[in-house]
Amino acid sequence: MRERQGKPRGWVKGWALWQLPKPVLGYVLAVNTVAIAVSAGTALLLPVTRTDVIRFALLAGCAAVAIELTRQVERQREYNRSGTVAYVDSKAVWSFAAVIVLPPVLASAMVLFTYALAWYRVWPHTRPVPPHRWIFSCATVLCGTQAAVAVLALGMRDYPGAPSAQPLAGLADLGIVAAAALLRWVINMGLVMAAIALSNPPASVKDLFHNFGQQLLEVGAMGLGLVAAAVVVAHPAALAGIVLALVAMHRTVLLAQYRQHARTDTKTGLANPRWWHQFAEQALVRARNRGTTVGVLILDIDHFKSINDTYGHPDGDRVLRAIAEELIAETRDHDACGRWGGEEFAIVLPDVGSAPNLYRVAERIRVRIQSVRLDRSGGHGPPIANLTASLGAAIYPAAGINSLDELVLAADTALYAAKNAGRNQVRLSAGAVTSIPEQQPRTDIHADSTDTST
Ligand code: GH3
Ligand code: MG
Ligand code: MG
Repeated sequence: MRERQGKPRGWVKGWALWQLPKPVLGYVLAVNTVAIAVSAGTALLLPVTRTDVIRFALLAGCAAVAIELTRQVERQREYNRSGTVAYVDSKAVWSFAAVIVLPPVLASAMVLFTYALAWYRVWPHTRPVPPHRWIFSCATVLCGTQAAVAVLALGMRDYPGAPSAQPLAGLADLGIVAAAALLRWVINMGLVMAAIALSNPPASVKDLFHNFGQQLLEVGAMGLGLVAAAVVVAHPAALAGIVLALVAMHRTVLLAQYRQHARTDTKTGLANPRWWHQFAEQALVRARNRGTTVGVLILDIDHFKSINDTYGHPDGDRVLRAIAEELIAETRDHDACGRWGGEEFAIVLPDVGSAPNLYRVAERIRVRIQSVRLDRSGGHGPPIANLTASLGAAIYPAAGINSLDELVLAADTALYAAKNAGRNQVRLSAGAVTSIPEQQPRTDIHADSTDTST
């Protein structure tokens, strides 16, 4: 047990916190200590009146209702942590309102209350975030809050309280509130980013800011906090309107975003296989009912392994994204482009008309991919160019193609033939060529002759 000397004992020993690398651990403990010290330091600045307690209770009540009604979305957001979902943190709305209208000790209490409540209500059973991360996050907000307290106490006419109702004094107060919000935000974000940079050194400063859009939304939350501050002083009952707006925003806009999220392939933004199949099934049903056609193209990048080998995996990923963009640009709005994993893409084209039409679309895509040029991510070396892809095409209805599975299999077989024939070409499934006599394909179409027996 000698090697454990100096480490915390008992249950404290089991905390995930102690697994952090030394510099990160030191940093996190330092920020937590500073948060406690500055919160204690400002706590006694101003006395708490009965009105303050009532306002605190009102804001805390609103926070509880908002957290309760948005916890499903919150939970999803925490699990995904993708950064692509725009979201206003409702905790910040109430804690920023508190810093404006309440004495510092209650402003700090509101931060603690909203964090504790979110911890217990959003994660009643399984908690994907270790407690020390949550506490650190709370500590950064406490630090920002005390800085905001200082700005407001020094600059605001009637601190703590709502901005002045007089036009000129009100404008001056608003300026002070904006400065306080900015400082709170910069401190909070700076402390979090420093922790990220310490524990996971980014390749570049740009990488560190890739979530910047999310951070900006925090400003929106504080904007709502300012409104809540004015409302709790002037018309407390109208706070219900803010809660309603917050909850409605979360439940409609965000749920729609999550639905979208569940449909897309994160690497390219194209449809994921599940969604692609659903879309294709529906297209097939419509075609069957209306007597129209559906085309399917399967595209596989040629020699992609050597692209990865030559330029590296990250640039390989950028090639995938670039090709996804070309597919979107070359197809119609009611077509669906999907990525099936790896470097294989699939496109479903409802109402594509004849097999020659489908072939022409595939050819346009093939030619377009040849013209893709992409600068290297490091900025040095010649650009990535001379990309090619092979495409297999199949159309419904055709001989032996009555279901989505058969349609996809036919396109896949045609793709295989295109690869075997030397790559960088389009092959049309044999069924498509032979079974639509009234829509004769062009003579320059390569039919997949290997497919005639199947
Ligand atoms: P072919 O012309 O026969 O298609 O040759 P290929 O090199 O493209 O062969 P294959 O399709 O078998 O290779 C796919 C390669 O794609 C293998 C794998 O390393 C790479 N790959 C798969 N998924 C990803 C991805 O998400 N990103 C990157 N960068 N590479 C991927
Ligand atoms: Mg390939
Ligand atoms: Mg492949």
